[in-house]
Amino acid sequence: MKNPSVQATDKLLASENNIISEFEKIKSQFFESSQFLKILLDTIPSPVFYKDTNGIYRNCNDAFADMILGIHKEKIINKSLLDLPDEIPRELAEIYMQADQNLFNNPGKQEYKATVSCADGKQRTFMFYKSTLENEAGVVIGLVGIMLDISQLEEQHQHLELLSMTDALTGLFNRRKFDTVFSQLLSSTANKQSLLNFAIIDIDDFKIYNDNYGHAQGDLILKAVAEIIQNHLKRSSDYAFRLGGEEFGMLFYSNNETDALQLCNKIREETEQLFSTKDNSGLTAVITISTGLLSISSHNNEPDNIYHEADILLYQAKSAGKNTIINKIL
Ligand code: GH3
Ligand code: MG
Ligand code: MG
Repeated sequence: MKNPSVQATDKLLASENNIISEFEKIKSQFFESSQFLKILLDTIPSPVFYKDTNGIYRNCNDAFADMILGIHKEKIINKSLLDLPDEIPRELAEIYMQADQNLFNNPGKQEYKATVSCADGKQRTFMFYKSTLENEAGVVIGLVGIMLDISQLEEQHQHLELLSMTDALTGLFNRRKFDTVFSQLLSSTANKQSLLNFAIIDIDDFKIYNDNYGHAQGDLILKAVAEIIQNHLKRSSDYAFRLGGEEFGMLFYSNNETDALQLCNKIREETEQLFSTKDNSGLTAVITISTGLLSISSHNNEPDNIYHEADILLYQAKSAGKNTIINKIL
């Protein structure tokens, strides 16, 4: 039988051992959790960061370090964007820090889209998802953010948008795009010094051509005429459309109506010269176009009225014997 003092010491030792093994357990659990978080963060291919309320990075993952700043994580942690002028220009750093500040002023979640110049020199579009982080007392101590690369989605979206406004055969803008641009330009003519011109071009006797040479050959003509038109409309404010069938539209600015008429006449001449030699069948397939040209200097024009006016001019050009331009100043 042990004496009471030895018994007490044994008890103390036993409870000390218990505390130590409990501590070891917690330590190992903590190690496991922090390893889990670390590995998780570095496995996520999207950039992730954690900043405090002073904009100092407290943590980030490999994707953020490699893809966004192109430097090692250790060189980012404990620094703010303002401390990294070689990696991010000050003006940009200030914009990002302002966005962070907005979130701190309004704690919770924040989402926005931004284009970022990445470490490899490529511009990528990211969705930023950010949330504020609070301590046990409920005080905001920082924010965590994840950046999702949506560049491919954006590209696909832009490509689809372009497709939806393009005529597949000729590559010109289609009727849908015309409707949008036409009303936009008509409502903005009041601000322009120059004349806005709207021309409708229609291939003459195209039905006969199709009947003689076939639809596929007809398609080639549509492409060739479209190319002539496009080649004459090179300015960023110029638009060429296939309005439907063998009918084309042009919207362009000029200093005066004479310049506009000259441009239409060049297109008419070049189309007439598409086939200057006889084809195999011995037929001379001369392609000609008729044009109704409206030069618009007046304000408050209704798209439907303007279209109708130009259509009347086109009709007059056909009646006058085709291969003709009839123009009018509004
Ligand atoms: P007009 O000089 O009065 O304009 O006579 P037209 O024969 O050109 O006009 P019409 O409206 O009678 O016929 C238009 C022709 O255009 C008929 C159609 O087969 C042809 N066409 C319309 N769209 C296409 C197309 O996408 N490809 C081809 N190859 N032909 C087309
Ligand atoms: Mg025609
Ligand atoms: Mg027609």
